Amino acid sequence: PSEPTRDSHVAVLAFPFGTHAAPLLAITCRLATAAPSTVFSFFNTARSNSSLPSSDLPANIRVHNVADGVPEGYMLTGNPQEAVELFLEAAPEIFRRKIKAAETEVGRKVKCILTDAFLWFAAETAAAEMKASWVAYYGGGANSLTAHLYTDVIRENVGVKDERMEETLGFISGMEKIRVKDTPEGVVFGNLDSVFSKTLHQMGRALPRAKAVFINSFEELDPTFTNDFSSKFKRYLSIGPLALLSSPSQTSTLVHDPHGCLAWIEKRSPASVAYIAFGRVATPPPGELGAIAQGLESSKVPFIWSLQEKNMVHLPKGFLDRTRKQGMVVPWAPQVELLNHEATGVFVSHGGWNSVLESVSAGVPMICRPIFGDHAVNARSVEAVWEIGMTIIDGVFTKDGFKESLDRVLVQDDGKKMKGNAKKLKELAHEAVTTKGSSFENFAGLLDEVVKVLI
Ligand code: UDP
Repeated sequence: PSEPTRDSHVAVLAFPFGTHAAPLLAITCRLATAAPSTVFSFFNTARSNSSLPSSDLPANIRVHNVADGVPEGYMLTGNPQEAVELFLEAAPEIFRRKIKAAETEVGRKVKCILTDAFLWFAAETAAAEMKASWVAYYGGGANSLTAHLYTDVIRENVGVKDERMEETLGFISGMEKIRVKDTPEGVVFGNLDSVFSKTLHQMGRALPRAKAVFINSFEELDPTFTNDFSSKFKRYLSIGPLALLSSPSQTSTLVHDPHGCLAWIEKRSPASVAYIAFGRVATPPPGELGAIAQGLESSKVPFIWSLQEKNMVHLPKGFLDRTRKQGMVVPWAPQVELLNHEATGVFVSHGGWNSVLESVSAGVPMICRPIFGDHAVNARSVEAVWEIGMTIIDGVFTKDGFKESLDRVLVQDDGKKMKGNAKKLKELAHEAVTTKGSSFENFAGLLDEVVKVLI
């Protein structure tokens, strides 16, 4: 029988790159609020922790900094994958020591290890050493998760030959419209032997051993994958969209909008504005940033562009002055609120999972310019599976291709169809989080898996 334990202790292990840790902390907050007598020890690097909200956390969450795995005196070359790989290699030992220390500090053994799925080694740590259960959070969508789960099958079917890049993955249900070239690097192309590729491959093999696997999505978005995961995993729980889970009244007081984007968009007409953002890590190459600027100027479409300060040097000379009335370029924007504003007509994005789901939740069509990882499979799903947007014409930003893409989504009939489809998904997303919805029920299931232990 399953019994609630009044004194349980959950270790939460974050993957400290991209936008992985923020949603995991948001979920931890919800769990901690629902289970006030359970202590949640949240482990993440100092750097990643510093980008997360630290106030207003429930009192039963304890945030810990862990080492980043970069040896002392080591000079990083600047290749982002290098930092990820150093971390992954050191991670089992880093977390093991910290969990032990937290057990002593809290005075309770850890009964459940809840980790980012990339940290699959927890399958072994949890079961063999700690006698705890492993619950895994996969930070992408069901589409990329399928690519990792079926990596061996995909490799057997298509091999690793470049000439098959245009073929589709029809031999996996739900992947009929996904082409070989849309799969993340490390599945069939790219460096299959890198630490990162091997980690994702092992993750796909380990996840069926987890007590539960959960993702930030909703079942109705991908019914085929939902069915498949339900038979492949011990328990599969789709608990999102997270962006819809905090009530508007709660968020409005917390919105971080230092550059006044919301006041600016307030004055624009419905479905007229292009919101442009590429997440925390990916940036199109400098030449394409110039092409975005040129496309915006020549299309005259009003815009808000979230662009890291260091990349602003790549904007054409005089662009900011000339477009002072047309739009704004800011280093950070309140993305969820902007997407939910009726003036936003299109989201121009790299296709990061959080961004895609936020756009779906707001019913906003997308133009995607995938850069790495799961972006291409997300972009392909946006264009060909859900039909709520398109991949940028030419695959990269050019002045004319971008202008034409904006016109297609904002003006043409095609765009109206995308918008209609996006609206339908938005409704399904909202239904999923109501008290009778699938995500609401699944969250209760997750709570069960995390705070109740078999006795
Ligand atoms: N984001 C934001 N303001 C910005 C840029 C990004 O709030 O100016 C948020 C966005 O809402 C999303 C996250 O950052 O939740 C980006 O996540 P995603 O998975 O799309 O991309 P990643 O950062 O992992 O590449």
